Amino acid sequence: MPSVADILIPLALDNAYSYAVPAGVILAPGDVVQVPLGPRETVGVVWQVSESPGGSNLRPITGRIEAPPLSEPLRELVDWLARYTLAPKGSALAMALRLPDEAARGETSRIGVRETGKPPARPTPARMKVLAVAGDGAMRGKSALAREAGVSLSVVDGLIDDGALEAVALAPEPVALPPDPDHERVPLSEAQDQAARDLIGLAYPVFEDGAGGKAPTILLEGVTGSGKTEVYFEAVAEAVRRGHQALILMPEIALTAQFLDRFAERFGVRPATWHSGIGSRRRERLRAGVAAGEVAVVVGARSALFLPFSDLGLVVVDEEHEAAYKQEDGVHYHARDMAVVRGRLENCPVVLASATPSIETKVNAEKGRYAHIVLPERFGGRRLPDIHAIDMRLDKPEKGRFLAPLLVNAVRATIEAGDQALLFLNRRGYAPLTLCRACGHRYQCRNCSTWLVEHRFRRALVCHQCGYAERRPDACTECGTFNNLTPCGPGVERIAEEVTELFPDKRVIVLSSDFPGGAERLRAELQSVADGECDIVIGTQLVAKGHNFPHLTLVGVLDADIGLTSGDPRAAERTFQLLQQVTGRAGRGDKPGRALVQTYQPDHPVIAALLSGDATRFYEEEIASREAAGLPPFGRLAALIVSANEREVAEAHGQALARAAEPPQGVMVLGPAEAPLALIRGRYRFRLLVKTERAVDLQAYLRDWLGRGPKVRGNVKVAIDVDPQSFL
Ligand code: ADP
Ligand code: ZN
Repeated sequence: MPSVADILIPLALDNAYSYAVPAGVILAPGDVVQVPLGPRETVGVVWQVSESPGGSNLRPITGRIEAPPLSEPLRELVDWLARYTLAPKGSALAMALRLPDEAARGETSRIGVRETGKPPARPTPARMKVLAVAGDGAMRGKSALAREAGVSLSVVDGLIDDGALEAVALAPEPVALPPDPDHERVPLSEAQDQAARDLIGLAYPVFEDGAGGKAPTILLEGVTGSGKTEVYFEAVAEAVRRGHQALILMPEIALTAQFLDRFAERFGVRPATWHSGIGSRRRERLRAGVAAGEVAVVVGARSALFLPFSDLGLVVVDEEHEAAYKQEDGVHYHARDMAVVRGRLENCPVVLASATPSIETKVNAEKGRYAHIVLPERFGGRRLPDIHAIDMRLDKPEKGRFLAPLLVNAVRATIEAGDQALLFLNRRGYAPLTLCRACGHRYQCRNCSTWLVEHRFRRALVCHQCGYAERRPDACTECGTFNNLTPCGPGVERIAEEVTELFPDKRVIVLSSDFPGGAERLRAELQSVADGECDIVIGTQLVAKGHNFPHLTLVGVLDADIGLTSGDPRAAERTFQLLQQVTGRAGRGDKPGRALVQTYQPDHPVIAALLSGDATRFYEEEIASREAAGLPPFGRLAALIVSANEREVAEAHGQALARAAEPPQGVMVLGPAEAPLALIRGRYRFRLLVKTERAVDLQAYLRDWLGRGPKVRGNVKVAIDVDPQSFL
């Protein structure tokens, strides 16, 4: 019987620790246990068990914890994640474990009440109302009964004390109702039907004979409004029919009410959802349900990737190109890439869906590493919107305004026709910079190297990096001059001001993540836009993606060039994707749509590609230029971000790292350079960039380099970002 177990602990530790297995206890890899660590007790997972004579000197395992064990593929995923991202193995484990707090563990039973037939001692009107409701014999919770009867809870309690009602334990509510794969199949268009059959044909033969075949990764590429969702729903239905589980990853799960409703129409029930907003008790029940195979479909944010599915039969990554899939703190991982890895480990098909795939995925499809299914046209014969440029050098807005006359006229015509217009600007707040006209002072965050953004609604100047906020002063804090601060440039709030002046009697709504009232209110607002209850929507990227607004026929892009000037190697790709997505919101209903794009560079290749509607050419050129520059996916990148409380310390550590780099053939190390965001939350930041040829083992080089490099001392931190998506 194994006497030693290596336990991996979900803390920033690289190795599993050995513990003695107490006599009579049988443990297997994946079991969740409690172990002593230093002076305290902690939770860990059995990584390996062995027969070892030295076992008696080890501290013993305290006991087993009731939690679903980690399956072998999930443990392999943890190992893989740590190896790839260079994160400590324990940190990778923490993502798959996420144990609930003590209070949430264990099931508290729900209590229902019912009539006993015994009349109450004092038949007050309130008491009689309760008994009248309870008289139907149905079982209710106490507060539900009180609510229905319109009385306070104490009346119900009084009746229980009296013996007229009795409390009974109810069966726990199921954590998710089973979706019915054949609930309601919407008739698919011919193109959709073909795509769905191709998808299922590619995905499922591997399960047929059990042993043979490797499950594929499939790019499902379809223009905006082509009906990709219905297509992959058929694959989800097939997975469920075969008794497998399916996971659908979404970039912004908190806002997907529309999507959940569509799922319910197709499958009869809403799916289980998984994101940071759900409570820890529900989270634990869901984990258990997923591990037991009782939960068939989960729709989740990137962390759902680490759920303990017992029989995963399909993973869908919707909007696979989205930057939100990259986690930028802690373990720097890309959920789309990890979904492909998990698919490989579970031998389960993975579908990557997008109207504007990432260059990486596109290249993988072209090279035949991924299968490729294309929906080239919109559903129902609808046309893609016509897109025109407004050359801001020729068609200038009036002084102090941001909407070109052409765009104003188009908005007017649209709302006069009874349709909706969307004005898109990817800038929250009122103005991105505030300065004093008297002394020239610019208001800057005290913790970060960023300008403070004016939020007029909150009457505050806010840092979008760290959240620092101060009241917008009446007099300049530098020179004391009154009423001389001036906002520079527009944010969505400022556009709203302009639009309200232009169209005073129209219903205008501003949608950004600053929307007061949180995700719940925002969902309601998005729904009201979809229902046609407003004329003009002004929004950030929040409204650009995924939503279906059937009344929307005009999209105006206020500053198409905004993202093109950054030093990010993906600037062109990102801008193209965002503009395709946002212009793709127009004309999804019965009427055709159009888009007007305000730009100072109508000849820029990205803008030109957008205007011509020639995505193929854009991809060809972008792929060619990535290849020529040796950038991903034709080469590999990693970033090291060195930060410290003092600028000199951070810089010195970065330089010491650079001196130790000794890059071999095929590896280039650039920097240290001050990061574009040189200061965040009071920490100074320097960046090093590693660029290698594709064949180089980047991780092995990084490990070797960091091993030789300077020791991390004091408050210095070195963050490792493999395949960086952000270069700030
Ligand atoms: P995409 O995700 O490709 O942009 P969607 O899946 O959101 O497109 O579909 C676009 C619109 O077309 C949605 O309003 C959807 O309800 C509708 N639609 C798609 N397929 C069908 C179908 N087979 N029958 C009826 N409506 C459909
Ligand atoms: Zn700040």
